[in-house]
Amino acid sequence: TYIVQLRAVSKIYDRGPVPVHALRDVTLSVGTGEFLALTGPSGCGKSTLLNLVAGLDRPTSGDIVLDGQPTGGWSSLQWTRARRDLIGIVFQAFHLLPALTAEENVAMPLLLSGSAGRSLSSRVAECLDLVGLRERAKHRPSELSGGEQQRVAIARGVVHRPRLLIADEPTGNLDSRTAAEILALLRSLPRQLGCTIMLATHSDAAARQADRLCRMKDGLLHDHPPKTLPQDTA
Ligand code: ADP
Ligand code: ADP
Repeated sequence: TYIVQLRAVSKIYDRGPVPVHALRDVTLSVGTGEFLALTGPSGCGKSTLLNLVAGLDRPTSGDIVLDGQPTGGWSSLQWTRARRDLIGIVFQAFHLLPALTAEENVAMPLLLSGSAGRSLSSRVAECLDLVGLRERAKHRPSELSGGEQQRVAIARGVVHRPRLLIADEPTGNLDSRTAAEILALLRSLPRQLGCTIMLATHSDAAARQADRLCRMKDGLLHDHPPKTLPQDTA
C-alpha cells in the first residue's frame, strides 16, 4: 500500500517576473515504511515537492494522494488536520521555540491538538528517549548543540505518531559527523515507529542511507526502485 502518490504533479511559481517551472509532471509512489531520499542540486525542486506533500503549498496541476485519499479538494483545515494526524515535518533550520525547554517544544504538537496529562508526559519522555536526549529535557534550545536541537525537532516531528515524516535538508546546518548521527537516527525510525520517511538532501552521503533514491533535476524526477523492500530489512 502507498502512503503517498503523486500523479503528474506540476508546480509553476508565477508571482515573479518570469514563471518558474519547479516541478514537471512528477509521478511517484511511496510505500509504507520506506525511507526515500530525494537528491539533486539546489533549485531542482526537492523542497517544492515536499511542501506539496505536506500541504504547505498547492500544485498547479496533477494529483497528490495521501493514504489512498485524493487531496485535490482539501481545504486548509483538512490539510491542518493531516499535519496533526498523518504527517510530521522536520526542517533544516530547527524552528524550535527559544523560550521553551526541549520537552515543552516536543509537547507542543500534542498540546495544540488538545492532549494533556499523564499520557502526554509519557509520550514526550518516550520521544526524548528515542532521540537520546532524556537528560536534556529541561534545557532550552540555546543550551543545546545543533545536533541536539535537530534531535529535539525530530522528537517533536514524531510525537503525534505520524505515519509520514517529511525531512527537508535536516542535516544542512550540521557538520558531517553530526549529520551522520542524525541520519542514523532517521534511518532507525521506520523500523521503530513504522513510519515512512521522505528526505530531501543535496548530500550523496545522506542519500546513501535511504532505501530508495530519487534523483531530481530541473523539476524532473527519476525514480529508482528500492534497493531492498522495507519488509526485507525488518
Ligand atoms: P530545492 O529544494 O531542490 O533547492 P526548490 O523546490 O526550493 O528546490 O526550488 C525549485 C525552483 O523553484 C527554484 O528555481 C526556486 O528558485 C524556485 N522557487 C521555490 N520556491 C519559490 C517561490 N515561493 N517562489 C518562486 N520561486 C520559487
Ligand atoms: P532549499 O534549497 O533548502 O530548499 P531555498 O533556499 O531554496 O531552500 O528556499 C528556502 C525557501 O525560500 C523555501 O521555502 C522556498 O519555497 C523559498 N524560495 C526559494 N526560491 C525562491 C524564489 N526564487 N522566490 C521566492 N521564494 C523562494
